[in-house]
Amino acid sequence: MEYPWGHQRRFNAYSNYFIKTFGQRVQKVSINAGFTCPNRDGLVSSGGCTFCNNQSFNPSYCDPKKSVTQQIEEGIEFHRVRYRRATKYLAYFQAFSNTYAPLEKLKEIYQPALDHKDVVGIVVGTRPDCIDDEKLDFFAQIAKEKYLIIEYGVESCNDASLKAINRGHNYQTSVDAIQKTHDRGIKTGAHFIFGLPGESKEEMMAMAPIISKLPIDNIKFHQLQIITDTKMGEEYLANPEKFTFFEPEEYVDFFIDFAEQLNPNFVIERFVNEVPARFNLQENWKMRNDQLLNLFEKRLEERDTWQGRLYKEE
Ligand code: SF4
Repeated sequence: MEYPWGHQRRFNAYSNYFIKTFGQRVQKVSINAGFTCPNRDGLVSSGGCTFCNNQSFNPSYCDPKKSVTQQIEEGIEFHRVRYRRATKYLAYFQAFSNTYAPLEKLKEIYQPALDHKDVVGIVVGTRPDCIDDEKLDFFAQIAKEKYLIIEYGVESCNDASLKAINRGHNYQTSVDAIQKTHDRGIKTGAHFIFGLPGESKEEMMAMAPIISKLPIDNIKFHQLQIITDTKMGEEYLANPEKFTFFEPEEYVDFFIDFAEQLNPNFVIERFVNEVPARFNLQENWKMRNDQLLNLFEKRLEERDTWQGRLYKEE
């Protein structure tokens, strides 16, 4: 059976979407352009989100002391060895808040990536309170000529959870940023965490119809991970009994229940994450991402279900 996204996999998968969009496999190259974050430098708060340790996902070639071009070159070389099929790349501005600078500075940072011959597009990760009309106009101009997506860290629809993790903005801020971005003709991404302390499974499940109403193009989820050198890590080590975690198999079935209600137009970029073991304080999560993806697709088959099967358009 072919699903609305044009292939036989039971969810709107990122890898297929890329092949359809670019006609070939495309690899992301991460860049640390030296931005900081208003939730760290004191503008919103100085503590940062309690789960955050940017080092846990920063590849070795990413270093803000190197130019953007140099990081792209080294990133391409790094991936060329591992993913031989990729010949085109997306420049992924990942670390911290990549719109948190004056417009002139943003132009300086993004232009070398736009000029690189092997870069077919740009991915901009940021907070929803770090965008304004002027910056959106700048990105909208780029988006007319090149693939560009702005990915917002939303994390949860529950303001109490956002407060508990010291996120420094509420859910409505994300809704407004995503809507304004979409209205400018720019693709939008959103990131969520399942299992934030104090959030019940029912509360997490209730987010599916809420976020399905948003004009999101690509979406990422992952299970809560407790990372070293974070406030949450300290809280966990002091009071582990206050945290409950999904078991990997349980998470897969939870995510299938969630995906059944999710808007089928959303491209699912990721539903789990795996930080390098040296950053992981949590002991129950022993399955790799690829094993979980296989299990996810096997369980979709066994349950004879698919993304959006129970989605109700309003
Ligand atoms: S997760 Fe993002 S917004 Fe939160 S402290 Fe880290 S860099 Fe800042």
